[in-house]
Amino acid sequence: MSSALNPLLSYEEAAAIVAARAEELASVRQTQKVPLSEAAGRVLAAPIRADHDMPPFPRSTRDGYAVRASEANRHEPLPVMGSTRAGEAPAAVSLAKGAAWEIMTGAAVPPGADAVVMLEHVEAGDGAIRLMEPRRLEAGENIVPTGAEARAGQQIVYAGTRMGAAQIAAAAACGHAELDVFRRPRVMILTTGDELVPVSEKPGPGQIRNSNAPMLAALVEQFGGHAVTMPAIGDSAEALNKALYATAAADMVIFSGGVSAGRFDLVEPALARLGAKFHFTGARIQPGKPVVFGEIQRGEISQPVFGLPGNPISSTATFLLFAAPVLAALAGWGDTLPRFAFAQLERGVKGNPGLTRFVPACCDAGGNVEPVGTQGSGDITAFAQANCFVVVPEGVKWIESEEIVKILQF
Ligand code: AMP
Ligand code: MG
Repeated sequence: MSSALNPLLSYEEAAAIVAARAEELASVRQTQKVPLSEAAGRVLAAPIRADHDMPPFPRSTRDGYAVRASEANRHEPLPVMGSTRAGEAPAAVSLAKGAAWEIMTGAAVPPGADAVVMLEHVEAGDGAIRLMEPRRLEAGENIVPTGAEARAGQQIVYAGTRMGAAQIAAAAACGHAELDVFRRPRVMILTTGDELVPVSEKPGPGQIRNSNAPMLAALVEQFGGHAVTMPAIGDSAEALNKALYATAAADMVIFSGGVSAGRFDLVEPALARLGAKFHFTGARIQPGKPVVFGEIQRGEISQPVFGLPGNPISSTATFLLFAAPVLAALAGWGDTLPRFAFAQLERGVKGNPGLTRFVPACCDAGGNVEPVGTQGSGDITAFAQANCFVVVPEGVKWIESEEIVKILQF
């Protein structure tokens, strides 16, 4: 617990603890096979290797004529002796001296040729071509030699890579109809609060709908986890004990609400009763100051558990800053640090001398970012316009419009 003797950690200190634990917690991971068509977003558990030299033959990158560069540079007509289209077997015999060979993009260049001259760069007529003056051709031009991209057996996509379109293409090119990926960690989402009703119900007086459960589930899926949500838990020790009972098999547990200093903020004591060890129970950030990160020993396995403040903007910020790196590590991502980027501020923002601020904002495709302006951390309406947080470091009082700022996208 924080006290005068044990002051709250700065954002950077808390982030460093998370990064260090994320590495260690990531050691327990299971794998599964998925068809290539379902591999997008999954994390590769075994490297993809080239199953043949890539390219498997000297490949022309242009439509044109295969020649010897030194001969073409004489600017004399070279008779065209034959042609190879993409998909045709390479010419069986070496290109005759002083000759050219018609070639298409993606086709195999005949032996003996050392360059391809582009169609647009020759004069053609009478079954011959001539390199236009004053153009010159370099040996090797417009040809990718056999194995220049990868040699057979070479790793071309590494374990820990999240499969995107480019990596899926590489897997397909090497004949992988199935991939070994890491199993997605099961993340139990426990929302607390006597005021919460399910999304499908109309809130009574003093009640609100449980919007954090689906919001956090979406974030969990985005960071490689499989979200398991439960009905909201009432603000009592008994209800929390009972809910925690169901979390034993989860790879990670995320609480929302009940971590502030209020009389019904009972999450931390409930975790302590289970013997949780706390890394921190607060950080000098706004929003999200009461954020809790701990671990519960479950047999051999240490289960990470987060207590995120209940306000939706606070929950999202603390999820991205602290829970997401641990989740990404459990999911097998090679690079788990929060993804900060840079953008140009469209309106000045205020800092808070003793806290790092994370200001909900909207960044456009041109890299201009504007705070959305909220009525506090519970303002779901304003937050729905946001796609990032602007970071205002601790100690900074004000950032002027037009300045380049760090943002955390989600
Ligand atoms: P707490 O962190 O429990 O003190 O809650 C802080 C604020 O967030 C209160 O206004 C709660 O009503 C609100 N809140 C807590 N949990 C949720 C939730 N699951 N969905 C939406 N709002 C919530
Ligand atoms: Mg509460």
